[in-house]
Amino acid sequence: MNIHEYQAKALLRDYGAPVSDGRIVLKAEEAKTAAGELEGPLWVVKAQIHAGGRGKGHFKEASAGEKGGVRLAKSVEEAAEEAQKMLGRTLVTHQTGPAGKQVNRVYIEAGSGIETELYLALLVDRVTSRISFVCSTEGGMDIEEVAASTPEKILSFSVDPATGYQPYHGRRIAFSLGLKGAQVKQCVALMGKLYQAFVEKDMEMLEINPLIVAEGGDLKVLDAKLGFDGNALYRHQDIMSLRDETEEDAKELAASKYDLNYIALDGEIGCMVNGAGLAMATMDIIKLYGAEPANFLDVGGGATKEKVTEAFKIITSDPNVKGILVNIFGGIMRCDVIAEGVLAAVKEVGLQVPLVVRLEGTNVEKGKEIIANSGMNVIAADNLSDGAEKIVKAVKG
Ligand code: GDP
Ligand code: MN
Repeated sequence: MNIHEYQAKALLRDYGAPVSDGRIVLKAEEAKTAAGELEGPLWVVKAQIHAGGRGKGHFKEASAGEKGGVRLAKSVEEAAEEAQKMLGRTLVTHQTGPAGKQVNRVYIEAGSGIETELYLALLVDRVTSRISFVCSTEGGMDIEEVAASTPEKILSFSVDPATGYQPYHGRRIAFSLGLKGAQVKQCVALMGKLYQAFVEKDMEMLEINPLIVAEGGDLKVLDAKLGFDGNALYRHQDIMSLRDETEEDAKELAASKYDLNYIALDGEIGCMVNGAGLAMATMDIIKLYGAEPANFLDVGGGATKEKVTEAFKIITSDPNVKGILVNIFGGIMRCDVIAEGVLAAVKEVGLQVPLVVRLEGTNVEKGKEIIANSGMNVIAADNLSDGAEKIVKAVKG
């Protein structure tokens, strides 16, 4: 789960990280009061969406020369005006895709004078199964671009969980970032706080781009992007309460309410499968037969009729779906129960596209019989490749 920049900064402030004072604005009429509560002479107005690249992004229907989602202002009035201009409009960045995201919240912050922009991240490194620090002197811009063209400018190392964070980790970062004197001390303390926040809140990612050396020489967190492990959210009610459902894919949101593991994709074949491994194999074989999956969906081992119906609703709500492949292995569940569940779901939701059902496992003959005798336009398949071939043929002719 991701949260907004202003929420991330509030959380990091609680851990003692240096961040600027700021106010969140939800309605245009609140903008002037919010900006007036902050000290000048510089204000920064920042669109809050769950995507990066806001500074270099652009608004839809922007006037000529209009700035992106991060704007500097020199007075309270100007800051309020900029905030009002952003609210309700759609911001397009390289991370939102061409559709962009609607800006419903704007953060006004006391502006900082910048000496240097640095990059810092903490993440879970799947190769070492440890938390890693990633840092670079090339902050403020696309770190992907830096990684591609000048990888030597990125330092990355993991922390042994048995020792946890140690001051030498912080010094290593400080020296690689070219920090001097008091800044090294600040860096050692700040990295310790960030590591502590990362572990205690079960984060997946913590990215500060840029971390700055402000005018006067102090370190400051100027942007913050936090991602949390969804499987650990049950023990973090405080983080759960920061969830902004308007930022999430509507289909993925519906799926999460019914405990379905669903990820929306761009293809035309909707798939409903039990088990993550079988779901991935199903996506692979759809591709092998020349089509693209519209989603990943694992309905789980103990899928009920209700769950199957909800899954169907979610799949069919995607306008790109031109056909559906159901691929279920009846191990814990019986195939006849699954067949009845699928048919009930089809009856309730209605079906405008071809449907191929492949069942295997306990009571498979009974299950196939139920489908064959349903009088509905459902195509039965005998195995994985038969199922994929049939649905691709039904969709592409
Ligand atoms: P992003 O584009 O979504 O990553 O948003 P950021 O918060 O990183 O802001 C983009 C850029 O705006 C930063 O890299 C800075 O160059 C600039 N910026 C942001 N806040 C300030 C500020 O307080 N003062 C100044 N001078 N520039 C800022
Ligand atoms: Mn940034």
